[in-house]
Amino acid sequence: MRFGSVAFFKVLIKTVLCIAFFVPLVLCVIFAVVLWNKSAQLEQMQNNTSLVEELQHENAVLSSKVELLSGKSSTVEDFYKLYADSGLSDKELMDYLAEKNGTVITDPSVQTGGQPEKTDETSENIETIETADLSDTTDAGDVPVTAPVSEYESIHTDMTVRVPATFVREEGTVYLTFDDGPSENTYSVLHYLKKYDIKATFFVVPTRTEECYAIMKQIVDNGHAIGVHSTTHEYEQIYSSVEAYLDDFYEAWMMIYEATGVKTEIFRFPGGSKNDFNGATRDAIIAEMTRRGFRFYDWNVDSNDAGGATWTDMYTSVPQDIEGNYRSIVLMHDSAPRINTVYVLEDIIKALINKGYKFDKINNNTQPVQFIGPYA
Ligand SMILES: [Zn+2]
Repeated sequence: MRFGSVAFFKVLIKTVLCIAFFVPLVLCVIFAVVLWNKSAQLEQMQNNTSLVEELQHENAVLSSKVELLSGKSSTVEDFYKLYADSGLSDKELMDYLAEKNGTVITDPSVQTGGQPEKTDETSENIETIETADLSDTTDAGDVPVTAPVSEYESIHTDMTVRVPATFVREEGTVYLTFDDGPSENTYSVLHYLKKYDIKATFFVVPTRTEECYAIMKQIVDNGHAIGVHSTTHEYEQIYSSVEAYLDDFYEAWMMIYEATGVKTEIFRFPGGSKNDFNGATRDAIIAEMTRRGFRFYDWNVDSNDAGGATWTDMYTSVPQDIEGNYRSIVLMHDSAPRINTVYVLEDIIKALINKGYKFDKINNNTQPVQFIGPYA
């Protein structure tokens, strides 16, 4: 084939056509392959992003778990709030606890120390935890949760009660409360309350005597509420530490139980929840008592009988102070020196009945009046 011949041009044209047709085709294939690879990589990256997000979520859940169980939940409410915030399912919590403790949290009769059983008893488990945290069970060995929720939990382990989560706040109700008894005055107080069919509340300072036990039993038999005030009523001693407070409280709580069969859920701090002696310890004491399920009640009407109020003082001031309140928790005393309280009680009751007030004892669902705390 000669350069410039017809055959040469035929070959040339064919070659040019081939190049014009195949080169773009090959390029297209190459680009398609490259693009396919890129899109696969992109997909992979997206997958990685969701993996990262998933991991972050897992971490958040895990940190909630850790927080939930690391003792930050100093109260029952804290515990349930943290639990709710953690987004954990019942089963996840159970599995986590089982993993953490190396135990299976289940019916105490099936308690083991081995691997967690993957069964669907989770809702029952949560109930077990509630019961363990709040119940008045005296068998500490049944408590299935071993993660510490308080540094004080080993003290008087049987001293826990259950109170309702919601409280009642009755308008126009007067809650008469008597502190520092029992004494011989308590009989008179009980007499007047019975005469007008009124229920009241006694925050006692009990002693291990037959007389004291008999009066406490009568308080309960007459349908009144009984709560812990103190064993010693020694401010400096009981407010020196959480342990000291718990010891003092436990003594009184047990005496009430022995005398009446009542494991009371209510109490009143000597001097009220905010006083000159508990500045350093009150937050920790309140947190621990709340964790154990107890509720403290301060007052919004002070008869001032402990301050030496006369008959006239009290007869004037108590109904007057009650008048401005939505409902009233009235502080009085049935200890031996407060004889004026006995003298004026019937007249105050009559005056309040005439004004249309109703009376009640403090039940465990009565919303407290608290100088410090959630119900100020
Ligand atoms: Zn007192």
